[in-house]
Amino acid sequence: AFEVLVIGGGPAGAAAAIYTARKGFTTGIAAERFGGQLHDTLGIENLPGTAYTEGPKLAGELAGHVGQYDIDVMNLAKAVRLVPAAQDGGLHTVELGNGASLKARSLILATGARWRNLGVPGEAEYRNKGVAYCPHCDGPLFKGKRIAVIGGGNSGVEAAIDLAKIVGHVTLIEYDDHLRADAVLQAKLQSMGNVEIITSGQTTQISGDGDRVDGLVVKDRASGEERRIALEGVFIQIGLVPNTEWLADSGLELSPHGEIVTDSEGRTNLPGILGAGDVTTVPYKQIVVAMGDGSKAGLSAFDYLIRNEAT
Ligand code: FAD
Repeated sequence: AFEVLVIGGGPAGAAAAIYTARKGFTTGIAAERFGGQLHDTLGIENLPGTAYTEGPKLAGELAGHVGQYDIDVMNLAKAVRLVPAAQDGGLHTVELGNGASLKARSLILATGARWRNLGVPGEAEYRNKGVAYCPHCDGPLFKGKRIAVIGGGNSGVEAAIDLAKIVGHVTLIEYDDHLRADAVLQAKLQSMGNVEIITSGQTTQISGDGDRVDGLVVKDRASGEERRIALEGVFIQIGLVPNTEWLADSGLELSPHGEIVTDSEGRTNLPGILGAGDVTTVPYKQIVVAMGDGSKAGLSAFDYLIRNEAT
């Protein structure tokens, strides 16, 4: 059994494991894909201290850093079930998709999240070539250009407000017949001069010139009429889905959005089980936030282990 087992090998999981290994605890990482969302990321310009890097490069550097410690990294290991310890200080069990099970006194859950896809032609083809999901990350790449934001909930309207200050023009497209964001955000968006809001709009296609996005097609759900909008970027803001399906019947508290509920020290409702990064209720899903959160969870695991004798 491990003293600490980290589930997930993204920025949060890697940071957590480095911290617990440095405290001298036997540490393992089980990850479906070590590096996580970094593999889907091209340019990264907002990791303080590193003016520019790329996702796969950073993933490689995290693997190298983790490799400097005596950490048992199990890649391509998908957790399918959590069985919490029967008593305080006891061993938690994580079952893997390959039938194996791992035990640990403390668990750090860092299984991340995935952006919900629109599922229209062109979306996958032009990902990172005009199709974007993170306004904080990619907004500045569209300085002065025309973009659309798909989704009129709080995240979509916040993204549109944010982007309207940077880009030339924003078209916000909402599928429903009204925006669902808070009234104060809607009022702010409506006050901006370079924004068009389309409701009852179904995006049916993202088009490109083979290299980059050059437009999209939106259908009016009332009239059925289709309109083509020429633009250079599409930000899809229809939800971030936490990877917590495997925790469903574990007794671990999840938010209404399915995120692991953690306190300011990364603790969950179950003793000895910590959460970190995009999979949790921690706001702002970013690499530097996930790394900080993972470090915090690692230190909280240390705190738990020195206060709770093995039983
Ligand atoms: P993740 O990176 O999602 O890692 C989760 C880990 O858990 C992975 O190893 C995964 O394989 C594993 N896992 C999932 N389910 C299981 C399971 N059941 N069993 C075992 N393992 C499992 N942020 C920035 O700060 N700057 C950027 O420029 C930036 N650009 C981005 C661009 C794109 C296209 C995307 C998608 C995201 C971007 N982000 C950016 C966000 C950033 O990537 C995330 O905030 C960060 O990766 C979160 O780290 P994490 O460790 O919490 O989760």
